[in-house]
Amino acid sequence: MDSSGSKEVSFRQSVNLSFDIASSTLDLPDGLAYYIKNNNHVFQIRFPVKINGKLESFIGWRAVHSDHRLPSKGGIRYSPLVNQDEVEALAALMSYKCALVNVPFGGSKGGLVIDPSQYSEESLEKITRRFAFELIKKDYINPSINVPAPDMGTGSREMAWIASTYAAHRPDDIDHLACVTSKPPTQGGIQGRTEATGLGVAFGLREFFRHPEDIRLSNLEGTLEGKRLIVQGLGNVGYHAAKYLQEEDGVIVIAVLEYDGALYNPKGINIKELAEYRRIHKGVKGFPHAEYFENSSDLLEYDCDILIPAAMEGVIHTGNAAKIKARVIAEAANGPVTFDADAILKEKGVSIIPDTYLNAGGVTVSYFEWIKNLSHIRFGRMQRRYEEKQNAALIAAIENEGKKIPDHLVKVLRQGPSEIDFVRSGLDDTMREGFQSIRERYWTNENTASYRIAAMAIAIEKIAVSYREMGVYP
Ligand code: GLU
Repeated sequence: MDSSGSKEVSFRQSVNLSFDIASSTLDLPDGLAYYIKNNNHVFQIRFPVKINGKLESFIGWRAVHSDHRLPSKGGIRYSPLVNQDEVEALAALMSYKCALVNVPFGGSKGGLVIDPSQYSEESLEKITRRFAFELIKKDYINPSINVPAPDMGTGSREMAWIASTYAAHRPDDIDHLACVTSKPPTQGGIQGRTEATGLGVAFGLREFFRHPEDIRLSNLEGTLEGKRLIVQGLGNVGYHAAKYLQEEDGVIVIAVLEYDGALYNPKGINIKELAEYRRIHKGVKGFPHAEYFENSSDLLEYDCDILIPAAMEGVIHTGNAAKIKARVIAEAANGPVTFDADAILKEKGVSIIPDTYLNAGGVTVSYFEWIKNLSHIRFGRMQRRYEEKQNAALIAAIENEGKKIPDHLVKVLRQGPSEIDFVRSGLDDTMREGFQSIRERYWTNENTASYRIAAMAIAIEKIAVSYREMGVYP
């Protein structure tokens, strides 16, 4: 059931139906597609925690969709609505996004049925540590086997608790910091992980707008500058995507949809100002520089160039797909467009930049963090000053010839790269290459009807090659 109340296939079925279409464009041996499509194993755990003297039971899952590459990777979701079907769907999406953007991990996901807003920080720590311990016992948290990260309802705070729980139980594992990613930088995290998914969305849209053929396909023209954007969900992903697009690309954010209502201003809403307002007032209602609407989902149907659903699955469904006016839907969330809605939007000529690609920025930077943890050194530590020295010598050599290098270029050249520079450069490169491979498949394979199918087909192909080469399949 989707949020409109109409009967639609489940999230997992939605992902699997797209998989079936994508795998039908490939020449896979019988049985292999079936094996790749389904989750390899799912661990369900019920555990008790004493909260304020009362025993409460919690139920959670960790699903491993694929382990053709290890570790398997994916976030842990805290939500009262999380269930096994959802966790399996999300784990499958992790496999496809990692394969697509060449992040050498299998796909996994975890979920815990909990409303974090109902618990104190102290209780949340207790619950998280207990959940982590249960997962550690069964090797569902382990730097070489399964590495969680945040998802909805969790963040770097929970990851630090998980890392600390792992270190307490496996003090002899020299790579203990690599057991989880998106830790605070002071706890072995990496600069730039917090904003990585949102920035990846911005990089992905920038790449889309570098290809006139693709822009025309969605009945748009020009660059990102001045394009009207609606963003649904101002969480970590939505906030950073909208902020970067507004500040660096000149996109006009005309509407923001949140759980407590929506804001609309055709002249633009300043995202930073709004985030600050929301922090103080615990909601968007009353923000002085925009019109307020109680029923936020209505604004999904407002006229705009780009719509970024950045909250959760199933928000664009058969109940509202026909009324969507956006020309491009940029799936920052996992699974925001249902399988049936996808077909309706395709018919309308809306371009969907799919989740399997567009929100891969998070796991990409998680990969960088994992490498950093395994190498026990921050990126740039060895070469930064060396490169600065080399560049200074180059500047001096050129200027000795009597040529003056403009000051702003000298400033750029003088600086050796720091960790954040490497992270951003690696993320940008990954997002550029990802879209290029999708569009190449889309434009050259006549059976590939959308970017989603192209992205999935590329991912499935890579996973299939991997299984085949390792000898699982003859
Ligand atoms: N939960 C994020 C996602 O859906 C991040 C996963 C990770 O970094 O492992 O991609």
